[in-house]
Amino acid sequence: MNTVCVVGASLAGLLTARALRSQGYGGRLVVIGEEPHRPYDRPPLSKDFLKGAIGEADLALEGEDEEPGIEWRLGVAATRLDATARRLTLSDGTSLAADGVVIATGASARTLPGTEGLAGVHTLRTLDDARALRADLGTARRLVVIGGGFIGAEVAATARELGLDVTLVESGPAPLAGVIGLTMAQALAGLHEQRGVRLVRGVQVTEVTGADRADGVRLSDGTHLPTDVVVAGIGAVPNIAWLRGSGLELGDGVLCDEGGGTSVPGVVAVGDCAAWWDPARGSHHRIEHWTGARQRSVVAAASLLSGGTARPEPARPAYFWSDQFDVKIQFIGHARDADTVTVEEGDPAGGSFLAVYRRGDRPVAVLGVNQVRLFTRWRRHLETAPVQAG
Ligand code: FAD
Repeated sequence: MNTVCVVGASLAGLLTARALRSQGYGGRLVVIGEEPHRPYDRPPLSKDFLKGAIGEADLALEGEDEEPGIEWRLGVAATRLDATARRLTLSDGTSLAADGVVIATGASARTLPGTEGLAGVHTLRTLDDARALRADLGTARRLVVIGGGFIGAEVAATARELGLDVTLVESGPAPLAGVIGLTMAQALAGLHEQRGVRLVRGVQVTEVTGADRADGVRLSDGTHLPTDVVVAGIGAVPNIAWLRGSGLELGDGVLCDEGGGTSVPGVVAVGDCAAWWDPARGSHHRIEHWTGARQRSVVAAASLLSGGTARPEPARPAYFWSDQFDVKIQFIGHARDADTVTVEEGDPAGGSFLAVYRRGDRPVAVLGVNQVRLFTRWRRHLETAPVQAG
């Protein structure tokens, strides 16, 4: 292999480039990134960076002395891929032919329909988003967050710590219910309420009001919540539109085998844009978490270099963390695989507990809330005895 092009200059792209080098690839390595920035870490964007506790230099993903021999093409998007010929067309009108292609284009924040161009309405995915939101929060008194997923819950917590009056609107019964299950999500809802976030549950946002700038949010029960800033945390969509017509199989992400190989030889996909085959569930599954990108980049690089013959180890259960206020939430596994969940340590009311999700008597997922040491032991246990879905 003489030329590998990596599309997407973020976590999964950089880590796969590094893994290609550490696995012996010595040819030309081109990384194409739509954003003008060198790879940076996204998790702090909703936490310490938004709070102003760290600066942009602290977000860098590359080590200071790192020199993996990458040719960077930044501020340029790939607009088309002919997968069979492995030829990329770029937004600057140039094209690149490669022997191997890594697709690591991540995901984009879903936007609220009808709010395009309305000042004071934000999503949070990129450094530029975080800069704009940080500036707006600096002069605001009130914030409404729409959506109680991780990004929404983290932004709500950070803004509260900055002293804003924060309302979190969640259409479901409790924030995070989709990921950690309803019982534990209800237990965790108190975390926000005890720290002064107003939770509004079970209603939809029907309209963001304001002429040039948002001044409020209207809910499906008729309530109008006045606000200075709105953040929509309503999920992310994989960046795969540019791959339509490429010859790759697409679904909710680029469809891959369990090693990251796509439907076309010589093309792998990794990170938030990729839906890898999960043999335990018999379906493709897209993981939108930092650790998934890290673990899978090594597997995808091996798959590309071996021409798809490398046999990946059984996938580890998905793991993620989230920091909200002074609370570290950690989760491994899939809540939906379980039929029971029990608190085995601590007390949800006290803000520190560990809950084990079981199918029958078999642990299939674990939630830790300010229980780092005990959670680490459970994490090791689940990683060495991977979960079989029932
Ligand atoms: P991305 O980081 O999305 O990068 C994809 C890159 O590809 C982008 O730079 C994009 O501009 C570029 N690109 C897209 N299309 C093209 C194209 N056509 N051509 C060229 N380039 C293109 N995970 C956790 O586990 N814990 C956390 O606490 C946590 N916090 C988070 C907080 C925030 C605010 C965000 C946004 C994410 C957070 N995550 C967290 C998730 C984690 O950051 C992602 O899983 C990770 O960034 C995925 O990396 P990626 O490289 O696959 O995609």
